[in-house]
Amino acid sequence: MLEAYYKPASLEEALSILDDFAGRARVIAGGTDLVLQLMHKEVAADVLVDISGLRQLRKIREENGRIVIGALSTHTDLSESSLLQEKAPLLSAAAGSVGSLQIRNVGTVGGNIVNAQPAADTAVALLALDATAKVVSLSGEKQVLLEELYSPLGGSNLNPCREILTEISFAPLSKSKAGGAFVRLARRKAVALPVLNVAVVIHSEEAKGALTDARIVMGPVALTPFRARKAEQVLRGSFPGEESFCRAAGLAADEARPRDSRFRGSAAYRKELARVMVLRALTIAQSNLDGQGVNR
Ligand SMILES: Cc1cc2nc3c(=O)[nH]c(=O)nc-3n(C[C@H](O)[C@H](O)[C@H](O)COP(=O)(O)OP(=O)(O)OC[C@H]3O[C@@H](n4cnc5c(N)ncnc54)[C@H](O)[C@@H]3O)c2cc1C
Repeated sequence: MLEAYYKPASLEEALSILDDFAGRARVIAGGTDLVLQLMHKEVAADVLVDISGLRQLRKIREENGRIVIGALSTHTDLSESSLLQEKAPLLSAAAGSVGSLQIRNVGTVGGNIVNAQPAADTAVALLALDATAKVVSLSGEKQVLLEELYSPLGGSNLNPCREILTEISFAPLSKSKAGGAFVRLARRKAVALPVLNVAVVIHSEEAKGALTDARIVMGPVALTPFRARKAEQVLRGSFPGEESFCRAAGLAADEARPRDSRFRGSAAYRKELARVMVLRALTIAQSNLDGQGVNR
C-alpha cells in the first residue's frame, strides 16, 4: 500500500523528496515497468516520486557535437525523431520496436535503462552507440559510461531511491565513416521483450577500408545487455565482408550465454540465432556505412 505520491515541479524538489524518505521513496517515470513490479511485489516502495512533469528531461537535440536525449523522452519520441533517423537510425529503429503503441507513448528511455533488462531494446542500441549517462543526486552530478550503470550480476547500479538519470548522450554516426544496424526477433503475438535483439555499430576511416572499431551488443543472452567483445576484437583491423563478418558472428554466438527459456526457446536455438542475427546486423551496418542502406 502506497503511503504517498509526489509530483515534483523541479529536479531539485524530486531529489529532496527522495532524500527525505531515505530509501522508502522511488522514482517513477512512465510506470510501464514499475507499476507491474509493484503489483507483483517484485519491488517495494512506500512513496512514489513521479518525475513525468519535468519537461526539461524530455528532449532530443544535438549539442556540442553530441546527440543528447533527455531520460523522459518516450520510445515514440525516439522512433519519430528526424535527428535520430538521420544520425543514429539503429536507435530510432530500436525504440520503434518496443512493445505496442501505448507502451511506446508512455515508456521512457530512462526507465528502459534503469529497469536494466538484458534485452531492453533502446538500452541495447545505446550501448552499441557507446553512450554516456548523466546521473544526478543531492551529492552532485556524474557522467558515466552507460555500461557502468549495469551491475555484472544483473540489475542497475543506479539507485532510483536516491539518484535520477537525467540524460544520455553519444556521438552521432558520422556519414560514410560509421554504419549501424538493429535487428530483432520477437514472438509474433507477444507485446514484450524480444527473443533476441542485436545492435551493431562499425567504423571505418576510408571507403571499403579496414574497420577501425566495432561494437556488437545483444540480449537477452546474459544477465545484462551483452557486448560480444571477442567478436568486436576480431573485426578491428579486418576488412569488412563475408569472411570477417562470419568469423565475428561465430565468435559472438560462442560468447553468448542464453538460458533455456519456455518463452524464448532453448539456449542452443538462441546461440544459433545469435550467429545468424549478428551476421545479418553486420551486413546491414556495412551497407549503411557504404551509403546503400535504407536508413542512410
Ligand atoms: C506490455 C509491455 C511490453 C513491453 N515491451 C517492451 C519491449 O518490446 N522492449 C523493451 O525494451 N521494453 C518493453 N517493455 C518494458 C518497458 O516499457 C520499458 O522498459 C520502458 O522503457 C520503461 O520506462 P518507464 O518510463 O515506463 O519506466 P518506469 O516503469 O517508470 O520505471 C522503471 C524503473 O526505472 C526507474 N526509473 C525510471 N526513470 C528513471 C530515471 N530517470 N532515473 C532513475 N530511475 C528511473 C524506476 O524507479 C523503475 O525502477 C514492455 C513493457 C510492457 C508492460
